[in-house]
Amino acid sequence: MTVAVTLLGTGSPMPDPHRAGPATLVEAGDERFLVDAGRGVLMRLAAAGVAANGLTAVLLTHLHSDHITDLGDVITTQWVMSFEPTTLRIVGPPGTRGVVDRLLTSLDHDVGYRITHHDDLVEPPRVEVTEVLDGPVELGQSAVVVAAPTDHRPVEPTVAFRIDADGASVVLAGDTVPCDGLDRLAADADALVHTAIRKDIIATVPIQRLQDTLGYHSSVEEAAATAARAGCSTLILTHYVPTFPPGGGDDWRRLAAADFEGAVEVGDDLHRIEIDPSRQRSST
Ligand SMILES: [Zn+2]
Repeated sequence: MTVAVTLLGTGSPMPDPHRAGPATLVEAGDERFLVDAGRGVLMRLAAAGVAANGLTAVLLTHLHSDHITDLGDVITTQWVMSFEPTTLRIVGPPGTRGVVDRLLTSLDHDVGYRITHHDDLVEPPRVEVTEVLDGPVELGQSAVVVAAPTDHRPVEPTVAFRIDADGASVVLAGDTVPCDGLDRLAADADALVHTAIRKDIIATVPIQRLQDTLGYHSSVEEAAATAARAGCSTLILTHYVPTFPPGGGDDWRRLAAADFEGAVEVGDDLHRIEIDPSRQRSST
C-alpha cells in the first residue's frame, strides 16, 4: 500500500491565480481523506484523479472560512455524483455540526430542485458529522485516524489529525502555533504537513490586519522546530503567506532546513509526496 500526500491547495485567504485554498489529500491504499476544503478544492481533486464520491471522509482542522469555503461544493457534488445513496463523513472540531447543518439549510432550494427533476434522486444529501477534539476517530476504515487539539487562538477549538496506515504515518497540523497537542500527535510520525507563514516578511508590512496573523500561525522556523522535536523524517509546508511564484519556494526550504535535518517539501498545488516509512528519521 502506498501512503501519499497531495497538496491540493497551497494558498491562503488571499485569492491567487495559481493556488487554490487550503486543502490536502491523504491517500492510503483505497482510502482517501480530504483535509480541509478551501477554495477550488474539487477542481484540484479532479486533477488528482479523485471524485467527490470517492472520499472516505472529510477532515476539518478548524472552521476558518478559507479552510471550509468549498465544503458546500463537496457536499452537493458528492450527492449528485453518487448513483446510490452514499454517506459523506465529515469530521471536525466542536462547532462543525452547526456549520454543516446551516450549510445544508442554505442548499435547501437546490436539493428540492434536483429531487423534483431527477426521478432517481429521492433523498437529500446523506451527511454524517463527527465532532472531535482529542482521541481516535472511528470511521470504520482501516487507516487509523486520531485527533489532538491545537492552538490557533482566538480561533478555537482547532484540531490536528494523524493518519496511520501500513506502517506510515502522516500528521496534518492545520493552522496552529507550536503546542503540546501537536507535539504529542506528531511524535515519531513519518511526515508532518504544516501550514506556515513568513513572519520575517509579514512583520515588516505595516498593515494591522496582516500583523494580526502573526500570533496564531507558525512561522517556517516554528513548523520546522515542531517537526524536529517530533522526529519526523519529512516536513511538508503549505498555506504560503506571502505567496511565491510557481516553482519557487527555495527561501522557504532554506529557512526550514536551518531548524530541521529531514526532507523539506515546498511545492505548488498538486505536489504529491509518497511517504516512505523506512526512510531514516532525522535526529532531534
Ligand atoms: Zn485558520
